Amino acid sequence: MAASGVRLVLLGKPGAGKGTQAALLSQHYGVEHLSTGDVFRAAVAQGTSVGLEVQRYMDTGELVPDEIVIRVVDEHFAAGGPLEAGFILDGFPRTLVQAEELEQVLADHPLELVLNIEVPTEAILDRIAGRRVCVNCGASYHVNKRPTVDWTCDVCGGDVVQRDDDTEAAVATRLEVYDRQTVPIIDFYCNLGKLVAVDGVGDGDEVQERLIKEVDGRFAPGRP
Ligand SMILES: [Zn+2]
Repeated sequence: MAASGVRLVLLGKPGAGKGTQAALLSQHYGVEHLSTGDVFRAAVAQGTSVGLEVQRYMDTGELVPDEIVIRVVDEHFAAGGPLEAGFILDGFPRTLVQAEELEQVLADHPLELVLNIEVPTEAILDRIAGRRVCVNCGASYHVNKRPTVDWTCDVCGGDVVQRDDDTEAAVATRLEVYDRQTVPIIDFYCNLGKLVAVDGVGDGDEVQERLIKEVDGRFAPGRP
């Protein structure tokens, strides 16, 4: 049997750089990067019954309920998804119920590690509240890293603005919701002995090195 790849979950506050790190780790380990959004879009594109339900929630902008999120992930794995080959989950599980169900879904391919990227709230507020994006192409800037000409996008010449949901108050609310939902998940994985906290302060490469060191230190892929 071929050596199986790593099976990881990345946790981190909104703005902690989780999506970026998940993408880099999936390249490093050659495993699939599964974000909830990707899995949802795939289910919708395939037009499965659960995909149609997801579509309904996405259309109305409502949060997809736990039970449906789990079914989508379950079907993704059941349909020859990357259980054996390994994966990195990003944005899932989001609630304790999802975390508990995920253990059932994975059964004899359990998670190896849950990496919690820790960034102080102050730093997140600075990162997100300082963020500015191009309304046209989505290119991302920061009050400390502005476009060359005023607030005109370097890439496409579009207007660079602050998104409505990037204000300090909106970000603080998002962080509160995140904490409320995530503290029980962190306890859950801590009790399973799978949780590792990684310092998420610094540039992306530094954080990436810390994550890889933790994974390689506890799980050596390819070791016979
Ligand atoms: Zn632009």
